[in-house]
Amino acid sequence: MIDFHCHLDLYPDARRLAARVASRNRFTLVVTTGPRAWQATSRVFAGHESIRVALGLHPEITEQKVSERELLISCVCQTELIGEVGLDGSVQYRHTREQQEAILEAVLTESERCGGKILSVHSRNAAGPVLDYVERLCRNSVPVLHWFSGTMEETRRAVAMGCWFSVGPAMLRGAKGRRILEELPTARVLPETDGPFAMNGSSPYMPWEAISIAPTVAATWNVTAEEVRQQFLNNLSHLLDT
Ligand SMILES: [Zn+2]
Repeated sequence: MIDFHCHLDLYPDARRLAARVASRNRFTLVVTTGPRAWQATSRVFAGHESIRVALGLHPEITEQKVSERELLISCVCQTELIGEVGLDGSVQYRHTREQQEAILEAVLTESERCGGKILSVHSRNAAGPVLDYVERLCRNSVPVLHWFSGTMEETRRAVAMGCWFSVGPAMLRGAKGRRILEELPTARVLPETDGPFAMNGSSPYMPWEAISIAPTVAATWNVTAEEVRQQFLNNLSHLLDT
């Protein structure tokens, strides 16, 4: 089916796994944690048309990758898909907050300068500030908020701003995630796993398991699981056509 946010390069034996993912998924977005990883991962998965690799710099590892900032910005115009980028407001990353913000600002600015990009955006414990950046800097770009966990007010603000959302089984396990889902417009939701970081018990979610959210989404939207699958496919083609 679709996995709009996974770290396929970080699974064991990723090269072999990619062939299975390509045969089972219509579309897989591999987000990367740094521009050098983007370059290498793009080469590794180049033979699979349904696997697209997004250019990113993960906010959680800003400290290790800050030297790749210029490379990141210089690559933005070469790709349509950006991710994982964003802010992480958790205590353990507070010391890199200034750098995180500088990188996000630069990526969003460059994305607009290059005509607008689709961005998979991380906003854990920083939903409000991420939305402030999006509001100020995104005109033609389309932010897809991955595993959004803001307040209901922030959720409604993100919806009103035109953001998209990628939603996974781990997010919908909690009551808060399901409550957020109720607020989202059906036309701007896509499935994701965030694997291998998101775990299904003791093993990571596999990219073809993103669609396991269909029954929960169907119950929320009051439609059938098949209608949810069709909606996701329609959403994906709208997003990639914009
Ligand atoms: Zn991720």
